[in-house]
Amino acid sequence: MVLKKESGLKIDEKELSRILRERNCKVTVPRIKILKYLLMNRVHPTAELIYREVKKELPKVSYATIYNNLNYFIENNLLKRIRLHKDYDIFDVGTHMHSHFICKKCNKVYDIPYEIHQPKKIKGHLITDMSVNFSGICKTCLKGKIKF
Ligand SMILES: [Zn+2]
Ligand SMILES: [Zn+2]
Repeated sequence: MVLKKESGLKIDEKELSRILRERNCKVTVPRIKILKYLLMNRVHPTAELIYREVKKELPKVSYATIYNNLNYFIENNLLKRIRLHKDYDIFDVGTHMHSHFICKKCNKVYDIPYEIHQPKKIKGHLITDMSVNFSGICKTCLKGKIKF
């Protein structure tokens, strides 16, 4: 299954339950709300941000519930944890493979499509994931005429 890439798309709760069941995830209210936030906001959020946003819909949800469910999604290949910042991890929904570019100035993370040919196997090893990260100065910061 390929999760849609556009942000701001409308997804109803039935669709979210279907996505969870397709990944053999037990459907719970917090999981639905977390997945909804992740699919509608493609911003590579931190666990803290996900917690703050989901709490708006589920005021009683705890940080531990959010964190445990993020790990549950990772185990079920619905989510990836990315270490680009030295102080915190960010999360990326969906399993389509892509690289990341992180701006050293504003810390914004951009998705970069792979442009190189991706082998399915290397020296007999089956490749199931790959991560290539780039860093530098993003186009928005470059326009700001900042001297480096
Ligand atoms: Zn930037
Ligand atoms: Zn990404």
